[in-house]
Amino acid sequence: MVDDQLYMRKALLQAERAASEGEVPVGALMVLADGREFMAHNRPISSHDPSSHAEIEAIRAACKAVENYRLADATLYITLEPCCMCAGAITHARIGRVVYGASDPKSGAVESLYQLLSDKRLNHQVNITTGVLEDECRAQLKQFFKHRREARKIARTAVHHSRPDRESTIAECE
Ligand SMILES: [Zn+2]
Repeated sequence: MVDDQLYMRKALLQAERAASEGEVPVGALMVLADGREFMAHNRPISSHDPSSHAEIEAIRAACKAVENYRLADATLYITLEPCCMCAGAITHARIGRVVYGASDPKSGAVESLYQLLSDKRLNHQVNITTGVLEDECRAQLKQFFKHRREARKIARTAVHHSRPDRESTIAECE
């Protein structure tokens, strides 16, 4: 559990990096059986790639390094519950264990909306641990969306304030 928290802190740093790039703050850390670590952050906007979720990026980096499309004894740490796409990739990569912080009621595919990683109809099930540093993971996301809402509000207010000028210009023309 102490190790889980330690690794989750590294994933949180990755999420912070995503936020600094204007991406939704989700971070991931892949830890292989031999101890090698691969960090990644969410970056679909900057990479123009809807599959650039932190989990997918971490899986790609680790698979490339070990030259294998399977990561059987690996543990994947993620700050947010994986979506359907990432749960699919986790299954295909045969990842042994998944640990995440905050649950995602809107698109989570591990426990929230779907339970893909424990679905017995699939040929691979994953050892799952949830709620590691949950409060911190959730707070980071909340803060990001709060800032984004505020920024949009300011942008809207700016447009609103510019309106009387435009109207007075129109009135002058008339
Ligand atoms: Zn995903």
